[in-house]
Amino acid sequence: MPILNGVASVLIVEDDETIGASLSSSLSANGHDVQWQRTGISAVTAASGSSIDLVLLDLGLPDADGFDVCRRLRQSLAGSVIVVLTARRHEMDVVAALESGADDYLFKPFRTTELLARIRAHLRRVESSSPNAAPPLADGDLVLDRSRRLCLVAGTELPLRPKEFDLLAKLMESAGEAVTRDRLMREVWDEHWHGSTKTLDVHVAALRHRLGAASEATEPAASLPTITTLRGFGYRLDRA
Ligand code: CA
Repeated sequence: MPILNGVASVLIVEDDETIGASLSSSLSANGHDVQWQRTGISAVTAASGSSIDLVLLDLGLPDADGFDVCRRLRQSLAGSVIVVLTARRHEMDVVAALESGADDYLFKPFRTTELLARIRAHLRRVESSSPNAAPPLADGDLVLDRSRRLCLVAGTELPLRPKEFDLLAKLMESAGEAVTRDRLMREVWDEHWHGSTKTLDVHVAALRHRLGAASEATEPAASLPTITTLRGFGYRLDRA
């Protein structure tokens, strides 16, 4: 996903003409290559086989369930960042959206400056993590090849979402040590994070699930590190 000079290919999925037009013009004005789809079905079609860096997805679409659209976009855009847009009165949707493959969310109404700052933070991370010469991290049968963005369990690739990969890398870098929630939110998500940190718990749960399933699928069972919850503090990765 080559992002040149911070210019990204952005897909806006929004049926509201006013919001869509405002997003589209402010992102274009910031130099991004923008396409705007007004329905879930047209968004899924547009995403298939395309190289999109970032999706802004309104969950309330006229023709399809927003979570279902999110899952389908995640399938065809494995390495893209998906940011969900939802009204604050639908706060419960956030966890479901993250479980459907979203990386981040913004509550409507949002300020354009906040949206642009979030987008910049996401793109910086995608950018800085691509040609990275960081050495691989290994623990038991788990190898995280950071320069190739590849997670291997006993030699077999385990597909991870971008934030799951970054979170696992951050925990593996500090294996055996307690890492605070604040530090994880700041370093894996956004240094200016001031929203809910539910997103962290959802990503940890997803990582545990994926590692557990991968270990069970291996014969004999792969030896993998585990993530321990430290109540009121954060998480610790315990070595395999
Ligand atoms: Ca809508």
